[in-house]
Amino acid sequence: MGPPSQPVQMSVASTSKATSQVSSSESSSIISETPIAEITFESQSSSTSEGEANISTWVDEQHQQEQNRKALNVAVDHITEGRISPLRSSLNTPWEEVTERQRNYYLKKTREVIATTMSVIAPGQESDLWRGLVQAPPFYEEEPAAKKKMWDQQTVQTLVKAYQEADTWQTRQQILSLFADDYTKDELQELIPGLSKWRIDQARAHASESGPGKPVQQQPIYRTRLNPVKTDHFLAFLTQPHLLQDVAYGTKTMKLDSGEVITIPAAIRTIIPSRIIQQYSQYCTSANFQPLPDRTLFKIIEVCAARQQKSLQGLDYISTEGAEAFDAICSVVDSLVQNGASADWAKTVTHKLKEGKRYFQTDYKTHVKLEDRCGDHCIAFALSEKGKETLAVKCNHSHEITCERCVEIDSSLSEVQKMIEKEGLLTEEHKSRLCFTFEQSSSAIYSWKSHLLRAVNQDLAKQSALQQLDKQSALIVMDWAMKFLPLKYREQMTDFFGKRGRSWPVSSVITKGDEGKFDVECFVHIFNNFRQDWSAVCAILQSVLQTVKSENPSLTKVFLRSDNAGCYHCAPLILSLPAIGKKSGVSVLRSDFSDPQAGKDICDRKIASMKTHIRRYVNEKHDVLTAEDMKEALESHGGIKGCRIAVAQTDEANKEHARQKWEGVKSWNNFMFETDEDIRVWRAFGVGVGEVVNFATVPQTHDLPTLTISAPFGPPQSRASHITTSAGGATSSALFCCPEPGCVAAFNSANKLGDHMDVGEHHKELERESTYDRIRKQWAQAVTGIAHGPGLASQSLEEESGVGVVGSSRVVNEGWAIRTVKGGQRMSDKMKTYLTDIFNRGATSGQKADAVQVAQEMQQGSRWEAVVSAKRVAHSQADYELFR
Ligand SMILES: [Zn+2]
Ligand SMILES: [Zn+2]
Ligand SMILES: [Zn+2]
Repeated sequence: MGPPSQPVQMSVASTSKATSQVSSSESSSIISETPIAEITFESQSSSTSEGEANISTWVDEQHQQEQNRKALNVAVDHITEGRISPLRSSLNTPWEEVTERQRNYYLKKTREVIATTMSVIAPGQESDLWRGLVQAPPFYEEEPAAKKKMWDQQTVQTLVKAYQEADTWQTRQQILSLFADDYTKDELQELIPGLSKWRIDQARAHASESGPGKPVQQQPIYRTRLNPVKTDHFLAFLTQPHLLQDVAYGTKTMKLDSGEVITIPAAIRTIIPSRIIQQYSQYCTSANFQPLPDRTLFKIIEVCAARQQKSLQGLDYISTEGAEAFDAICSVVDSLVQNGASADWAKTVTHKLKEGKRYFQTDYKTHVKLEDRCGDHCIAFALSEKGKETLAVKCNHSHEITCERCVEIDSSLSEVQKMIEKEGLLTEEHKSRLCFTFEQSSSAIYSWKSHLLRAVNQDLAKQSALQQLDKQSALIVMDWAMKFLPLKYREQMTDFFGKRGRSWPVSSVITKGDEGKFDVECFVHIFNNFRQDWSAVCAILQSVLQTVKSENPSLTKVFLRSDNAGCYHCAPLILSLPAIGKKSGVSVLRSDFSDPQAGKDICDRKIASMKTHIRRYVNEKHDVLTAEDMKEALESHGGIKGCRIAVAQTDEANKEHARQKWEGVKSWNNFMFETDEDIRVWRAFGVGVGEVVNFATVPQTHDLPTLTISAPFGPPQSRASHITTSAGGATSSALFCCPEPGCVAAFNSANKLGDHMDVGEHHKELERESTYDRIRKQWAQAVTGIAHGPGLASQSLEEESGVGVVGSSRVVNEGWAIRTVKGGQRMSDKMKTYLTDIFNRGATSGQKADAVQVAQEMQQGSRWEAVVSAKRVAHSQADYELFR
């Protein structure tokens, strides 16, 4: 291995130029296919080209061999007084490949040289020496002394920074694998504080299994215009949220959270794009699509890297807002420093805040458990309603362990608050402005935390339903696709945005097949015109149940799952479910809602591949303007595996359906239908026995809203996708990794990853271990051990760790993570018009609204909702970009 790779020097100017190219709609054709500099792992120096360097390595080595032979020949000639002929060449061809004659020559020379050497070492005892030697373990198979590469300090620091910025564990693992073998575990944990041993082992395994990165293959390049269909196909792949990768690493420089720009070492610039290309070529093989040459793909990644990364955010606005809030607090700290706060103080606080953000993005969900001795992690505690026995679980443990990573977030926030309020630092006006930002940001941070915990819990509802599935039951996940706009081949961008979109309701039906495997089938209804409301959902659900029941008569029960959208989470729909059950012969057992923005997984993924499919069809010179066109597009090229499409109209009469009322229905997230009239409800899945609500006046079956199917679902596809729930090993060479924070499952195909996310269980491992983890482990040992009582254990733990285990002054409130339902948060018409305006302006000009700026413009009334709304606009524009 050569010296450590040097960062490839590139001017910032050329990168920004490349990035700006892609924002034009013609971008794909502009990329010229000039060969890019070959990047090999053993890059020698930035001044010579790598090709030359490789040749010169070989020349050097040959020269060295020649020198060695000369030295040996001189010595042997001298000792034997010229009786032995000189060695003419060194063997560089593998032993199995050389001829018998050559072998004999090298064996003979070896014998002569060894005999000569032995006669010097032990004159007269050559045969004893030989016997001793052949009985000893072969010296040439001994462990080679650890071949540690010497990294220069700066390169390692850059690698560590890149590691910390990476979005997926797999990229982090790949980056770590570059230098994991060159440092001891202790040294690595010093470089990356808290890094768990498990992760180090994985990274080392990765380095030895797959090698620390392969260079992109050299292929002939022809200077032609890029094929737009193929380019588009690849770009669509890059924007699939569940395949989200650290695309930014394709660039030569990377902007860190802190605003600092670092040059990405060549080693990283090669490994990540090549993984993406490998993934893509696997994906193309399974979709029977001929991709562009690798080299061109590499170039595309490089050109569009920075931009893609940005537009992928905003899929879950609670998390995005939370992450942005951490950044906002950091900028509050910056302006405090400008007004005289100490720079050292700022450095420490900023570091803690960054760590906090990283914690929520990685390990927090892994820490969250149904029962835990830390109040910040105990689901039962966090979601129990104080004073309401039916909606609470009594923990039979106390919450006496504190997690220092949770505490650190609290403490850094309160430090910032104290500094804002410090006498004489800020003017009153400035103070109130920073206070405002601080308060909204800190509330966004805590919303994120609660959201993460609730999401873990509501996911358990899905797991529990899957476990209960049998031949008579199914789980239906319902969701709404983003609006899809009609597409004309060669359409002007402005025309494209001026139109009204079409919504796709997607219902994924999961059933249990043979041998404990699951089948997933997706039913999509496309309408030319309709309202996205409860009556449509009610009609769609009936249609799905009827279709499924007619094909599988033994089906009698279903579990429902959907997100929090108003058309699902409302009284009229929920109260109609018993009647729908009666009418279709399939009764609804439960209806569970995922936490807002979480758990729409299945449908989102199907929608992503549907959009790609439609784009491909349009690029083949078709127009997709009506629902019928869309069905044709989706069924082109053999359709999409497991997806069935119907065109439908809602019936006119649906308008007259009166809305049922249920005060506070939004605050319940889990519904179980016990009888036609009794519904058992929970705020959080499994927390408490629940409350029973009685509704005597439910709609009759003939009152239900219905729809007319004008083009029916295609026939059921052969159930090729039997899915096993095996957790998917954390094999480091697997290409597709699960995007769930903390989950380390990885798979060899995009489909297998999809299966894992549809019905599998996540396999969570910590990224970093903290004192909390050690205490918890020791607790577990201590309480199961006979020698120690719990009291003893906590005492000794406290002494050892120096962290307050018992009697911490920090109070975590029971029920802290319960979602508060804000009533009647309606926007004023004026505000609505204003926001719509901004959205449209952004959509037509392609220039996205800057949420912060919009919020500032709207701040006269200082309304928090205004800020939230402004951010939503910016995020939905990001959504918009996704499927363009
Ligand atoms: Zn507890
Ligand atoms: Zn914690
Ligand atoms: Zn997973």
